[in-house]
Amino acid sequence: MRILLVEDDKVLADALSRALVQAAHTVDVVGTGEQADEALAHDVYNLAILDIGLPGIDGLEVLKRLRARRSGVPVLMLTAFDTLADRVKGLDLGADDYLAKPFDLPELEARVRALLRRGISVAPMLEHGSLTFDTVGRRAFFDGKPLELSARELALLELLLLREGRVVSKEHIANHLYGWDEEVADNAIEVFVYRLRRKLEPLGCEIRTVRGMGYLMERARHEGA
Ligand code: CA
Repeated sequence: MRILLVEDDKVLADALSRALVQAAHTVDVVGTGEQADEALAHDVYNLAILDIGLPGIDGLEVLKRLRARRSGVPVLMLTAFDTLADRVKGLDLGADDYLAKPFDLPELEARVRALLRRGISVAPMLEHGSLTFDTVGRRAFFDGKPLELSARELALLELLLLREGRVVSKEHIANHLYGWDEEVADNAIEVFVYRLRRKLEPLGCEIRTVRGMGYLMERARHEGA
């Protein structure tokens, strides 16, 4: 899942970003309201984590503009002060949840999971024959046994399964696996596909290369269907 993190406190932003990447999400981090507004207007996110106190336009204004564009992206607001006025204002403007600083990482992670589950437009479990993917718990299974996949391999597998039967372009993969501030080497996507393929092939799951277009997992034939 792709998450926009809006937080001007660099130390906190780094810690939160690391935790979210660890949970196999792709994270873009910005530190001002203007940058957040710009990112939300032009990119597609599954969730925004939005600090209220920001330089320039504040988090409440960013939220107001987001909802004025009729965007339904789930928003988790962060604030330095747990004041009733801020909380009410945030919820009135269309925030989905609210967390006051300081908070523990596990609490943030639990809220993120809940919001992603709520905002998800596909079944939380993706199925491909005996392969299943828990999009909320961020784990993949074969015949019910967990697969050992890295965070990026999980993200890649999720993309392919979400578009089962359709070609996924390298560019689309790069956009989902990497945040803006990361350099993507020319062959990086090929390397990830190669690694994932090596783990899936013994299980009878094929990732096809469609020359000049991208990659594809065919629709799995379900037994007895
Ligand atoms: Ca702040």
